[in-house]
Amino acid sequence: MTESFSVLRLRNQIALVTGGSSGIGAGVAKAMAAAGAVVYVNYSHSADEAAAVVKEITDAGGQATAVQADVSKEADVQRMFQQILQEQGTLHILVNNSGIQQDAKFLDMTLEQWQKVIDVNLTGQFLCAREAAREFVRRGPQPDISAATGKIICMSSVHEVIPWAGHVNYATSKGGIMQLMKSMAQELAPHRIRVNSIGPGAIATPINEEARDTPEEEKNLLTLIPYGRIGQPADIGKVAVWLASDEADYITGTTLFVDGGMTLYPGFADNG
Ligand code: NAD
Repeated sequence: MTESFSVLRLRNQIALVTGGSSGIGAGVAKAMAAAGAVVYVNYSHSADEAAAVVKEITDAGGQATAVQADVSKEADVQRMFQQILQEQGTLHILVNNSGIQQDAKFLDMTLEQWQKVIDVNLTGQFLCAREAAREFVRRGPQPDISAATGKIICMSSVHEVIPWAGHVNYATSKGGIMQLMKSMAQELAPHRIRVNSIGPGAIATPINEEARDTPEEEKNLLTLIPYGRIGQPADIGKVAVWLASDEADYITGTTLFVDGGMTLYPGFADNG
């Protein structure tokens, strides 16, 4: 009894994972489906990748559907939510995961590079969270399904606290997500909506392929990770399932760093 409950911790719950077609989002989508959730795998352009994630989930006996939307566009986001609500009646879990990098030295960064990253990483999370919270409040509690009326998980980064030269647009978006998440958590807690972030460290995905290209680059990256290994999307998937489950019911307004110790200032390990 206890075992089956823990294996299917998200049974009967509808989850949307933005950017679920790749990397961490795909890891979260698969983990949530394995925990019993009906998962919507959002993508913006990569329909084939989203279809492959859906196929992997359904082949394993889970339930998943691909849904297109550019999260930085209000009309797209509203259409995506309408589709989910029409098909499922409601939503229980939003994983705000879509994110991009457009790197440039500060002196060279264009307004376009700045704006694009803020639009997708920060405004995209606002737009999706607002639609999800509106639905959670409209529907109200469903205690037989979950203790919380709704759960929002924002994919942040260690760069919500670690500054990042050459990536000011990205680091600013993640710092912004911290206050977006905490302010939403404060405002929505009376509705029994939990809002939290996951702050991944270095996870092996397409977003950072270039930083892991050569053994030398990988070795450099590992000097920043006290635990001595690069993370995998499944490391984040497992944590997202737990954070969305009733086992984490008293947690709201928190960033959970999943980073092998990257936020421990490893440069100071030998007294600086
Ligand atoms: P990724 O490039 O594999 O995935 C990014 C996803 O975002 C893709 O599915 C992409 O289709 C989607 N996306 C991009 N623009 C979009 C848009 N306009 N609308 C909808 N979806 C869009 O990279 P990833 O590493 O899996 O990144 C996922 C999240 O994790 C991002 O928010 C990223 O900032 C964060 N993160 C990643 C790492 C890491 O080391 N990989 C570390 C910290 C945080």
